[in-house]
Amino acid sequence: RKTIFSGAQPSGKLTLGNYIGALKSWVELQNEYNCYYCIVDLHAITVPQEPKNLRENSLSVLAQYIASGIDPEKNTIFIQSHVSAHTELAWVLNCMTYMGELNRMTQYKEKSRKSEANLNAGLFTYPVLMASDILLYQTDLVPVGEDQKQHLELARDLAQRFNNRYSDTFKVPEPYIPKVGARIMSLQDPNKKMSKSDENENAYILIIDSPDVIRKKIKRAVTDSLGVVAYNDEQPGIKNLLNIYSKLSGESIEAIVERYEGQGYGKFKEDTAEVVIEGLRPVREKAEELLRSKDYLEKVYMEGAYKAEAAARKTLRKVYKKVGFIPRK
Ligand code: ATP
Ligand code: MG
Repeated sequence: RKTIFSGAQPSGKLTLGNYIGALKSWVELQNEYNCYYCIVDLHAITVPQEPKNLRENSLSVLAQYIASGIDPEKNTIFIQSHVSAHTELAWVLNCMTYMGELNRMTQYKEKSRKSEANLNAGLFTYPVLMASDILLYQTDLVPVGEDQKQHLELARDLAQRFNNRYSDTFKVPEPYIPKVGARIMSLQDPNKKMSKSDENENAYILIIDSPDVIRKKIKRAVTDSLGVVAYNDEQPGIKNLLNIYSKLSGESIEAIVERYEGQGYGKFKEDTAEVVIEGLRPVREKAEELLRSKDYLEKVYMEGAYKAEAAARKTLRKVYKKVGFIPRK
């Protein structure tokens, strides 16, 4: 069976974008592939995190993975910082990555523009850590959104570079473009993707948002003054709401557009909110239930770390040997 690796950062609570763009497709992969689904806490600290929030968000992300239907029996679900091989491989790969390659990364450019005051080296080398995440598990396929494609390209380059310099060690991973995936945009700026770390909380919907909060956020979603529910690039706000509506209801865009012909945005937004509320309800309720008792979540991440560790160590041992480190025995 082919191996899949993917993850989300506990940099906040998961959004509707994470759910539609990542979790929903991960669930579909679990029967066919050997999947590693990670909670990438090491990545999260590339921007400042309150320790208490980070702990809470990590558990919350874990609960939401499971609540979305990702089965701990079928997949390896684990917390990145529990498997130290990630940072160990990252160091070796850092020493094989050119500054210029990292300088070109658009996510770094964007995030560094926002926080020039506390630019840290971790944010700069983030893509190398991500390459380690992927390469440690001899991953065949990486389901990633548009936003991560450039990082995956670097992981491929590093795998090939290492294999050429030493000998065949890493599988060169391929991007996996999910059938159901879609890029969900910010509700406040539909030209920007929805992100859980957005400073404006009206920009995103969280999986755990209450129905009232969801109604309020969708009501306030930025649209346009054309007043026609149509699917095109001149109306990015409406297009985004149509994507959300369609992904969660399973209805085609055409059918939805037809229903709201000549009706303006009010009713369309109200109905979209209800579709989102009902779509997220089972996930939210299940996640809340899981978070009430920590024992089960603890068992899941401990077993996950154990399985992940074994696979990761195997690769890291080879890497250390090839680089010329003396094995400790
Ligand atoms: P952050 O703002 O902290 O980077 P994020 O919302 O971008 O948070 P990540 O943890 O970086 O979330 O990404 C988790 C997964 O969700 C990745 O597979 C990513 O491609 C996907 N994803 C993130 N945002 C969206 C979105 N708006 N639409 C679709 N998929 C998304
Ligand atoms: Mg992101």
